Amino acid sequence: MSQIVSEIKCPNCGAQLNLSPGELVATCRYCGYTSVVGANTPFQLEHSLILNNFDNSRITQDLQEWMRSGFMKPGDLAKKSRTSMIELRYLPFWLVPLTATSSYEGVLERIAPATPRKGTIQNEYDWLVLGRRASEFPTRDYKVPTQGKIPFDFTKIEPQAKFLNSELDSASAIMHAKDEVEENQRFLLKQEVDQVTKFDTTFNVQQPTYIHAPLWFIQYEYKGKIYNAIIDGSSGSIIRADIPQTDFKMI
Ligand SMILES: [Zn+2]
Repeated sequence: MSQIVSEIKCPNCGAQLNLSPGELVATCRYCGYTSVVGANTPFQLEHSLILNNFDNSRITQDLQEWMRSGFMKPGDLAKKSRTSMIELRYLPFWLVPLTATSSYEGVLERIAPATPRKGTIQNEYDWLVLGRRASEFPTRDYKVPTQGKIPFDFTKIEPQAKFLNSELDSASAIMHAKDEVEENQRFLLKQEVDQVTKFDTTFNVQQPTYIHAPLWFIQYEYKGKIYNAIIDGSSGSIIRADIPQTDFKMI
């Protein structure tokens, strides 16, 4: 259990909010009101909830199906594995809509003779930033479902689930989004030039949305080892799952 460092009161209903170390955005368990710790202004951003559509047994079933499919897995994986942990967690995300315009100069060298090139790369993104600093969650493999999204409602949170508050405020989420989008733009630039001499990106950022999404975290045991899996609680699809290494013998 994480240690509770600060106890503040909900600005809306006065209930006690228990915050873990590092949490900056708090959602009240009683009234669902969201506030930023230490800020005197109310939280004015949109807070959405993605509904969970599955229970333990369905998720276990989904994982079993995944274990049985695909030829890179051990043939007895579904039969010999055992679920050792299964937990529904509502993770906090920031969805940052932005347009990035990168102007560049460089040299195209893959075709002789090498030719100088310049231009701009412009893209629109709905960039997803996880609101937790330390997490093994593969944000780039996850797409926030557009269906099943409702205005945040704490009564729709499964009571047995773990609910995580954001450790990032919207300003730092925007910073993260810009950094990662710039990185992505730089990656796209590799198609245009081989040498980059100038690269400059400007951003047009829209209002971010704060979202809680249901993710199932599973650990399963197979032949004495523990493996991890994450399943989307909205769609039931596998976001990431470890496959035990098998020895494929060369003939
Ligand atoms: Zn409250």
